[in-house]
Amino acid sequence: TTANPVSDCLFCKILAGEVPATVVRETDRTLAFRDINPQAPTHVLVIPKEHHPNAAALAAADPELTAYLLRECGEVARAEGVADSGYRIVFNTGSGAGQTVFHVHAHVLGGRGFGWPPG
Ligand code: 5GP
Ligand code: ZN
Repeated sequence: TTANPVSDCLFCKILAGEVPATVVRETDRTLAFRDINPQAPTHVLVIPKEHHPNAAALAAADPELTAYLLRECGEVARAEGVADSGYRIVFNTGSGAGQTVFHVHAHVLGGRGFGWPPG
């Protein structure tokens, strides 16, 4: 559940159990689940259980939770077996950058190579 749920937020609905998700890891402060449209062999979304619209807003509101979320991304990568080969943590921020769900989420992508710049 979420302390501050937003009624039209898809990820608040996942946290509330109203929309199903394939959960890979859960803590008291975060949930990690598989992206429905994976862009890599490992593609997990890691979200805080508090609603914040994007990474910058989360960092401004709660730096400690931001650090916790990043640490959880590392734990997911380790559990998925991509920590050693390398992985990418992405926070799309704003619709122009491809953000479509305005509940902050880290994409943890791994299991293949990645180009730079990302395109
Ligand atoms: P964004 O584009 O906002 O950075 O990322 C949103 C992500 O959420 C996309 O990669 C999209 O595939 C994923 N997504 C959208 N709807 C659902 C859903 O209902 N369940 C899950 N697990 N992922 C979703
Ligand atoms: Zn939300």
